[in-house]
Amino acid sequence: MANTEANTSDKWSDYTIVNHTYDVVVVGAGGSGLRATMGSAEAGLRTANISKVFPTRSHTVAAQGGIAASLGNNTPDHWSWHMYDTVKGSDWLGDQDAIEYMVREAPQAVYELEHAGVPFSRNEDGTIYQRPFGGHMQNMGEGPPVQRTCAAADRTGHAMLHALYQQSLKYDADFFIEYFAIDLIMEDGKCRGVVAMCLDDGTIHCFRAHAVVLATGGYGRCYYTATSAHTCTGDGGGMVLRAGLPLQDMEFVQFHPTGIYGAGVLITEGARGEGGYLTNSEGERFMERYAPSAKDLASRDVVSRSMALEIREGRGVGDEKDHIFLHLDHIDPKILAERLPGITESGKIFAGVDLTRQPLPVVPTVHYNMGGIPTNYHGEVIAGDAGDPEKTVPGLFAVGEAACVSVHGANRLGSNSLIDLVVFGRATGHRLKEIIKPGIAHDELPEGSLDFALTRLDHFRKADGKASTAKIREEMQKAMTKHAAVFRDSEGLSEGVKELTTINKRLEDVHVSDRSLIWNSDLIETLELDNLMAQANVTMASAEARKESRGAHAHEDFPDRDDANWMKHTLAWFTGWGGSGGAVTLNYRPVHEYTLTDDMEYIKPKKRVY
Ligand SMILES: Cc1cc2nc3c(=O)[nH]c(=O)nc-3n(C[C@H](O)[C@H](O)[C@H](O)COP(=O)(O)OP(=O)(O)OC[C@H]3O[C@@H](n4cnc5c(N)ncnc54)[C@H](O)[C@@H]3O)c2cc1C
Repeated sequence: MANTEANTSDKWSDYTIVNHTYDVVVVGAGGSGLRATMGSAEAGLRTANISKVFPTRSHTVAAQGGIAASLGNNTPDHWSWHMYDTVKGSDWLGDQDAIEYMVREAPQAVYELEHAGVPFSRNEDGTIYQRPFGGHMQNMGEGPPVQRTCAAADRTGHAMLHALYQQSLKYDADFFIEYFAIDLIMEDGKCRGVVAMCLDDGTIHCFRAHAVVLATGGYGRCYYTATSAHTCTGDGGGMVLRAGLPLQDMEFVQFHPTGIYGAGVLITEGARGEGGYLTNSEGERFMERYAPSAKDLASRDVVSRSMALEIREGRGVGDEKDHIFLHLDHIDPKILAERLPGITESGKIFAGVDLTRQPLPVVPTVHYNMGGIPTNYHGEVIAGDAGDPEKTVPGLFAVGEAACVSVHGANRLGSNSLIDLVVFGRATGHRLKEIIKPGIAHDELPEGSLDFALTRLDHFRKADGKASTAKIREEMQKAMTKHAAVFRDSEGLSEGVKELTTINKRLEDVHVSDRSLIWNSDLIETLELDNLMAQANVTMASAEARKESRGAHAHEDFPDRDDANWMKHTLAWFTGWGGSGGAVTLNYRPVHEYTLTDDMEYIKPKKRVY
């Protein structure tokens, strides 16, 4: 229960400190965080959920296209086909035990959502409607495309998040809404809790727990334009790096083929699933050349690269020849209104285009982070021990886009994130139930356990340099956008590493003008920038080191995949914060070349053709 006795010294007398004790604390109330919260509370564990935004404003709310599961309602399907497509989509960087777990649990997870109240779109016979999505095929990749993606029109995430939040309220979890988690409390390699600030009144909250689950989402805002919300600043990844732990496979950043040109707003792949197609300035359906079989429904990295090549070779559309057209104008307006109402509206608002009559200007846009906090399929965080690659960090879990299980490997298939959220959110709940008995006693926190978080907070609150947070953030975003784009090369990447090292140092000169503790958005944005900066640096360094092309990492000087040398996960550590330190250290850990059960054989690497 909350009490206001400060477990700390006089030096923090500026701050009001509130102590809490829980069995489990989940940071993040998107799809993954809510599902983990539900599982933990349902198991009888005293559970707190901390979220910097109101739960139903988490980025999951923006997910449009749907959630993948081999229900086989609209075409024949089987979990082993879903597994094959996910492994192939990952360009053989995904861990096949975790992938098998996800695809086998997927149908049950979707039915669970249905029973929780998600209003899925329906077929005539009342079953859940499923649409085609990129890279999802029948017959172990042979084709034709499968209809595997369950959808609630083009507002699937919205429906899911509302249903999950309502369900969470049914269980006895405590929600700390509009609280910003600052840092983990670590002791001798164990996670003991987390420190957060209440945005509303500036009180500091020290959460002591047997387990902390990080469900903080992606870090898309490292880039200048992204489909992700402005809140996607990778705060969990920042906390993990500052705790001296590594992040995994950070070089793999997904560009979605269809962000609205100039605005970055997403047009779901479901648009191509429903029959939409791309054309260049010659009116040619160019995807037929790059992916003769899957065409516009090839996986995202393939479509984004093809678009970038068309633009580079002078066949882009518009005055600057710098984008591509997406056509939906041939689809029956009734179908558009029923299945894609949200994007019809986005087209009007953000591009001034009537989709039923005109093509939509689109361009590949940063969308998803395959990399993140390494975990096993129970959600337990991997420590990055060189001698024991499976060793975990006691008391620390991660789920959702913040995590890297790794089921998406080098490239995620569309509609495989929403299923990842609920399957691994649930798996984490199961694990917590196994290892924590409700009500077991807590050890005292060590002396000074708030010092790290409060030193950092206090430093930024009083930061008196010359550069604004917005200016430094823009420099970082421009460097990422320039050097770690759809195509990368050795020269650009090493330039990028140098630039980011310099830009990181700039944080020492940051200026925060608001010194208050009440809704200090200047301070919060600076803490977020510090999180983004660390991840931008490890992303660039991980990309610079990987001398091959795999999935979303398209290296022009090393255009082929190199399984002999590079079929391994990157681990990256970062020193310091606030512009101090800044050194990146890299190491590698093996990809799991085995499945979970004997029902499925290991899927051997092949050339990836769509
Ligand atoms: C526009 C868009 C459309 C998409 N469409 C699809 C789709 O159709 N199908 C699909 O499978 N995937 C889709 N994706 C991807 C998918 O939606 C995301 O990967 C997924 O929703 C992420 O969920 P999450 O639970 O990991 O985190 P999020 O939903 O991003 O939530 C993060 C949570 O963490 C909290 N948080 C973060 N930092 C802190 C902090 N410091 N302190 C306290 N709380 C914190 C936030 O408040 C929030 O509650 C889409 C993504 C985007 C951007």
